[in-house]
Amino acid sequence: MPTSRFILNGNQSASNRIARQINRNLIFNQIRAKQPISRAELARTSGLQRSTVSLIVEGLLTDRWVVEGSTGEIPRGRKPTFLNVNGQRGVLALDIHPAHVMLAVTDLGGKIISLDSVELPANPQNVIGAILTSIRKLLRSHPNRTFEGIGINLPGRFDPHFEKSIFAPNVGWPIGQLKARVERATGLPVVVDNVANACALSEVWFGYSDRMHDLVVVNVSEGIGTGIFANGHLLRGEAGVAGEFGHVQLDPNGVRCGCGGRGCWETIASNRAGLRYYAEIAKKPVPSFDALIELAKADDAAAKQALIMVCKGLGRGMHMIALALAPGEIVVVGDIANAWDLAGAVIEAEMRRFPLVRAPSIRPAREGIKARLRSAVALIMNSKTL
Ligand SMILES: [Zn+2]
Repeated sequence: MPTSRFILNGNQSASNRIARQINRNLIFNQIRAKQPISRAELARTSGLQRSTVSLIVEGLLTDRWVVEGSTGEIPRGRKPTFLNVNGQRGVLALDIHPAHVMLAVTDLGGKIISLDSVELPANPQNVIGAILTSIRKLLRSHPNRTFEGIGINLPGRFDPHFEKSIFAPNVGWPIGQLKARVERATGLPVVVDNVANACALSEVWFGYSDRMHDLVVVNVSEGIGTGIFANGHLLRGEAGVAGEFGHVQLDPNGVRCGCGGRGCWETIASNRAGLRYYAEIAKKPVPSFDALIELAKADDAAAKQALIMVCKGLGRGMHMIALALAPGEIVVVGDIANAWDLAGAVIEAEMRRFPLVRAPSIRPAREGIKARLRSAVALIMNSKTL
């Protein structure tokens, strides 16, 4: 029997509304994962009453999130009608990095239909214009698709109304203006959130973490961000800035960090740290973290050593998270997840090297780097109210 999941934003207090939302998410996810699927099969796999399932399905049909497809073959009796996620509706997902943007058109189930990547101009004043141009281009190339909205992952923390950036030490352009500018340019609903928060929500929304439990997403890229799902909702903290474990000092003698501190977790365990380690060991640079992973996979000694140093750094920070939050699991998002056979055991061993009250499981996000784009889809899908 599947258990209930809470997927909530804000202050939805009426308990029947919460139950309806949970059940609707559950049914939509079952359709997404098992399509084509009949109502009877949904009742069986969800554990919900047939009448409840029918009611929810009618709502999903009215909202055109799902469509009725072919009829099934059974030996006798009425033929069931199969349900599918509506392939004509879509979400535009943006995953913003300090120097480039990944864009994807997806269906409502988060399946990526087309993908684009844009390098951001060096002049900070031109960045938002470049993003708007690529959004318009992608929307124009899908004229037959109806878009639910635009979900945007941002590498930083923002105030609750997302009008200004509070903390984005790796970004040098006016990122706080992005939401309003995209809304004005497209007329579509836009939901923005910190990338690690979005990934934590996505793990729950898309049902990868199949229990109602506490989890922490650690997003490793240019920096390190964490998204905390605790007691049934995202933990945001005062002004939405909770989860900045990346800027806890783990090495008092370490290098300077973008936040103004020294030896922060992200200075010893991010992609940037990996590139720095390699340059120190090999006495030559490597162009990207992807290239570093490829070298390590090809058995390059310096690259392997640099990657191990990153993983040990990650393990040390995860020890801190395990003690502070006691999550059931820690989910790793980012390029390092693509090298899990090299990285996973080193990270876990380092976390366990220090005393722990309780060790969480550690795993990479499903679908590696696409996890970040799917999390932008989760922002839009989760924002829809009943
Ligand atoms: Zn820092």
